[in-house]
Amino acid sequence: MQGLLVIISGPSGSGKGTVVKQLDTAKGYARSISVTTRAPRAGEEDGQDYFFTTPEEFTRMRQENELLEHALFVGHNYGTPRHYVEKQIAEGKVVVLEIEIQGALQVRGKFPDAVLIFLMPPTLHELSNRLVKRATEDAVTIDARLKRALEEVPLINEYDYLIINDEVDCAVAKIDAIVDAERLRPRRCQQQITHFFI
Ligand code: 5GP
Repeated sequence: MQGLLVIISGPSGSGKGTVVKQLDTAKGYARSISVTTRAPRAGEEDGQDYFFTTPEEFTRMRQENELLEHALFVGHNYGTPRHYVEKQIAEGKVVVLEIEIQGALQVRGKFPDAVLIFLMPPTLHELSNRLVKRATEDAVTIDARLKRALEEVPLINEYDYLIINDEVDCAVAKIDAIVDAERLRPRRCQQQITHFFI
Protein backbone atom coordinates (compact mmCIF):
# COMPACT_ATOMS: atom_id res chain seq x y z
CA MET A 1 0.00 0.00 0.00
CA GLN A 2 1.09 3.57 -0.65
CA GLY A 3 2.55 5.44 2.36
CA LEU A 4 0.59 8.28 3.96
CA LEU A 5 1.76 11.34 5.81
CA VAL A 6 -0.52 12.48 8.65
CA ILE A 7 0.07 15.72 10.49
CA ILE A 8 -1.46 16.37 13.89
CA SER A 9 -1.41 19.91 15.25
CA GLY A 10 -3.14 21.60 18.15
CA PRO A 11 -2.41 23.96 21.01
CA SER A 12 -0.10 22.95 23.88
CA GLY A 13 -2.35 21.08 26.27
CA SER A 14 -4.63 19.71 23.54
CA GLY A 15 -3.35 16.24 24.45
CA LYS A 16 -1.85 15.61 21.02
CA GLY A 17 1.33 14.09 22.46
CA THR A 18 -0.67 11.34 24.21
CA VAL A 19 -2.84 10.76 21.15
CA VAL A 20 0.16 10.49 18.82
CA LYS A 21 1.98 8.08 21.14
CA GLN A 22 -1.12 5.88 21.15
CA LEU A 23 -1.31 5.98 17.35
CA ASP A 24 2.26 4.65 17.40
CA THR A 25 1.92 1.94 20.06
CA ALA A 26 -1.68 0.80 19.50
CA LYS A 27 -2.17 1.41 15.78
CA GLY A 28 1.35 0.89 14.42
CA TYR A 29 1.84 4.33 12.90
CA ALA A 30 5.45 5.43 12.37
CA ARG A 31 5.86 8.37 14.76
CA SER A 32 8.45 10.90 13.67
CA ILE A 33 10.63 12.17 16.51
CA SER A 34 11.45 15.86 16.18
CA VAL A 35 14.63 17.74 16.94
CA THR A 36 14.34 20.62 19.40
CA THR A 37 16.52 23.17 21.15
CA ARG A 38 14.21 23.32 24.18
CA ALA A 39 15.37 21.64 27.40
CA PRO A 40 13.87 18.24 28.29
CA ARG A 41 10.97 18.31 30.76
CA ALA A 42 11.04 15.98 33.76
CA GLY A 43 10.46 12.45 32.48
CA GLU A 44 11.27 13.23 28.83
CA GLU A 45 13.90 11.06 27.17
CA ASP A 46 16.30 11.94 24.39
CA GLY A 47 15.46 9.89 21.31
CA GLN A 48 12.02 9.01 22.69
CA ASP A 49 10.21 12.31 23.10
CA TYR A 50 12.60 14.46 21.07
CA PHE A 51 16.17 14.58 19.91
CA PHE A 52 17.32 17.37 22.21
CA THR A 53 20.03 19.42 20.60
CA THR A 54 21.96 22.71 20.69
CA PRO A 55 21.07 25.79 18.62
CA GLU A 56 24.35 25.30 16.70
CA GLU A 57 23.55 21.70 15.76
CA PHE A 58 19.98 22.70 14.84
CA THR A 59 21.33 25.42 12.50
CA ARG A 60 23.72 22.92 10.93
CA MET A 61 20.85 20.45 10.28
CA ARG A 62 18.75 23.19 8.76
CA GLN A 63 21.56 24.45 6.52
CA GLU A 64 22.39 20.94 5.33
CA ASN A 65 18.75 20.32 4.40
CA GLU A 66 18.34 17.53 6.97
CA LEU A 67 14.99 18.94 8.13
CA LEU A 68 11.73 18.50 6.28
CA GLU A 69 10.33 21.59 8.02
CA HIS A 70 11.19 23.71 11.01
CA ALA A 71 9.65 26.46 13.14
CA LEU A 72 10.31 28.70 16.08
CA PHE A 73 7.78 28.08 18.86
CA VAL A 74 7.76 30.25 22.01
CA GLY A 75 11.51 30.85 21.87
CA HIS A 76 12.71 27.40 20.82
CA ASN A 77 13.44 25.70 17.52
CA TYR A 78 11.65 22.53 16.44
CA GLY A 79 12.17 20.51 13.27
CA THR A 80 11.32 17.20 11.58
CA PRO A 81 14.26 15.03 10.44
CA ARG A 82 13.70 14.41 6.74
CA HIS A 83 15.34 11.00 6.35
CA TYR A 84 13.03 9.02 8.69
CA VAL A 85 9.85 10.41 7.16
CA GLU A 86 10.90 9.81 3.56
CA LYS A 87 12.10 6.27 4.31
CA GLN A 88 8.92 5.22 6.14
CA ILE A 89 6.66 6.66 3.45
CA ALA A 90 8.66 4.87 0.75
CA GLU A 91 8.05 1.64 2.75
CA GLY A 92 4.28 2.24 2.61
CA LYS A 93 3.84 3.21 6.28
CA VAL A 94 1.48 5.74 7.81
CA VAL A 95 3.83 8.38 9.20
CA VAL A 96 2.53 10.74 11.88
CA LEU A 97 4.08 14.12 12.66
CA GLU A 98 3.05 16.06 15.76
CA ILE A 99 4.00 19.60 14.79
CA GLU A 100 2.70 23.18 15.04
CA ILE A 101 0.90 25.03 12.27
CA GLN A 102 3.76 26.86 10.52
CA GLY A 103 5.62 23.57 10.09
CA ALA A 104 2.43 21.78 9.02
CA LEU A 105 1.88 24.30 6.23
CA GLN A 106 5.52 23.93 5.09
CA VAL A 107 5.04 20.16 4.88
CA ARG A 108 1.82 20.59 2.91
CA GLY A 109 3.80 22.67 0.38
CA LYS A 110 6.23 19.77 -0.08
CA PHE A 111 3.76 16.87 0.30
CA PRO A 112 0.41 18.17 -1.03
CA ASP A 113 -1.03 14.73 -0.36
CA ALA A 114 -0.44 14.95 3.42
CA VAL A 115 -3.55 14.78 5.63
CA LEU A 116 -3.74 17.60 8.18
CA ILE A 117 -5.70 17.05 11.40
CA PHE A 118 -6.22 19.70 14.07
CA LEU A 119 -6.83 18.56 17.65
CA MET A 120 -8.66 20.94 20.00
CA PRO A 121 -9.44 20.76 23.67
CA PRO A 122 -13.18 21.35 24.30
CA THR A 123 -12.75 24.99 25.50
CA LEU A 124 -10.06 27.61 26.09
CA HIS A 125 -10.83 27.34 29.80
CA GLU A 126 -10.13 23.58 29.70
CA LEU A 127 -6.90 24.25 27.78
CA SER A 128 -5.69 26.71 30.40
CA ASN A 129 -6.61 24.23 33.19
CA ARG A 130 -4.68 21.42 31.51
CA LEU A 131 -1.55 23.57 31.14
CA VAL A 132 -1.66 24.73 34.75
CA LYS A 133 -2.34 21.18 36.00
CA ARG A 134 0.45 19.72 33.86
CA ALA A 135 2.83 22.09 35.70
CA THR A 136 5.69 21.57 33.23
CA GLU A 137 6.05 25.30 32.50
CA ASP A 138 6.18 28.49 34.53
CA ALA A 139 3.35 31.07 34.42
CA VAL A 140 5.08 33.26 31.78
CA THR A 141 5.56 30.29 29.42
CA ILE A 142 1.97 29.11 29.96
CA ASP A 143 0.74 32.61 29.03
CA ALA A 144 2.93 32.64 25.92
CA ARG A 145 1.59 29.21 24.91
CA LEU A 146 -2.03 30.29 25.43
CA LYS A 147 -1.38 33.43 23.36
CA ARG A 148 0.09 31.27 20.61
CA ALA A 149 -2.97 28.99 20.78
CA LEU A 150 -5.25 31.97 20.16
CA GLU A 151 -3.09 33.11 17.22
CA GLU A 152 -3.40 29.64 15.69
CA VAL A 153 -7.22 29.51 15.73
CA PRO A 154 -7.81 31.37 12.41
CA LEU A 155 -5.43 28.95 10.65
CA ILE A 156 -7.52 25.91 11.60
CA ASN A 157 -9.37 26.29 8.30
CA GLU A 158 -6.19 25.23 6.49
CA TYR A 159 -6.65 21.75 7.99
CA ASP A 160 -8.59 18.85 6.51
CA TYR A 161 -10.15 17.66 9.79
CA LEU A 162 -10.90 19.02 13.24
CA ILE A 163 -11.20 16.71 16.24
CA ILE A 164 -12.26 17.78 19.72
CA ASN A 165 -10.13 15.81 22.12
CA ASP A 166 -12.25 15.25 25.20
CA GLU A 167 -11.35 11.57 25.39
CA VAL A 168 -8.05 10.13 24.15
CA ASP A 169 -9.34 6.71 22.97
CA CYS A 170 -12.11 8.41 21.05
CA ALA A 171 -9.72 10.88 19.34
CA VAL A 172 -7.41 7.98 18.41
CA ALA A 173 -10.31 5.99 16.93
CA LYS A 174 -11.45 9.02 14.90
CA ILE A 175 -7.96 9.60 13.50
CA ASP A 176 -7.65 5.92 12.60
CA ALA A 177 -11.01 6.07 10.81
CA ILE A 178 -9.87 9.15 8.87
CA VAL A 179 -6.66 7.37 7.86
CA ASP A 180 -8.55 4.25 6.74
CA ALA A 181 -10.84 6.38 4.57
CA GLU A 182 -8.02 8.53 3.16
CA ARG A 183 -6.11 5.40 2.13
CA LEU A 184 -9.10 4.31 0.06
CA ARG A 185 -9.03 7.38 -2.18
CA PRO A 186 -8.48 6.12 -5.73
CA ARG A 187 -5.42 8.34 -6.25
CA ARG A 188 -3.77 6.48 -3.36
CA CYS A 189 -4.76 3.04 -4.71
CA GLN A 190 -2.89 3.05 -8.01
CA GLN A 191 -1.19 -0.30 -7.25
CA GLN A 192 -4.53 -2.06 -6.73
CA ILE A 193 -5.91 -0.50 -9.89
CA THR A 194 -2.87 -1.66 -11.89
CA HIS A 195 -3.14 -5.13 -10.29
CA PHE A 196 -6.71 -5.45 -11.55
CA PHE A 197 -5.46 -5.63 -15.13
CA ILE A 198 -2.84 -8.33 -14.52
P1 5GP B 1 6.39 21.15 23.23
O1 5GP B 1 7.48 22.11 23.66
O2 5GP B 1 5.12 21.37 24.02
O3 5GP B 1 6.84 19.72 23.21
O4 5GP B 1 6.04 21.52 21.72
C1 5GP B 1 5.70 22.84 21.38
C2 5GP B 1 5.05 22.87 20.01
O5 5GP B 1 6.00 22.49 19.01
C3 5GP B 1 3.89 21.89 19.86
O6 5GP B 1 2.83 22.56 19.19
C4 5GP B 1 4.44 20.78 19.02
O7 5GP B 1 3.44 20.16 18.23
C5 5GP B 1 5.41 21.55 18.15
N1 5GP B 1 6.44 20.72 17.55
C6 5GP B 1 7.04 19.62 18.05
N2 5GP B 1 7.93 19.12 17.18
C7 5GP B 1 7.87 19.93 16.08
C8 5GP B 1 8.55 19.92 14.82
O8 5GP B 1 9.38 19.07 14.50
N3 5GP B 1 8.24 20.92 13.96
C9 5GP B 1 7.31 21.88 14.26
N4 5GP B 1 7.07 22.79 13.32
N5 5GP B 1 6.66 21.91 15.42
C10 5GP B 1 6.94 20.95 16.33
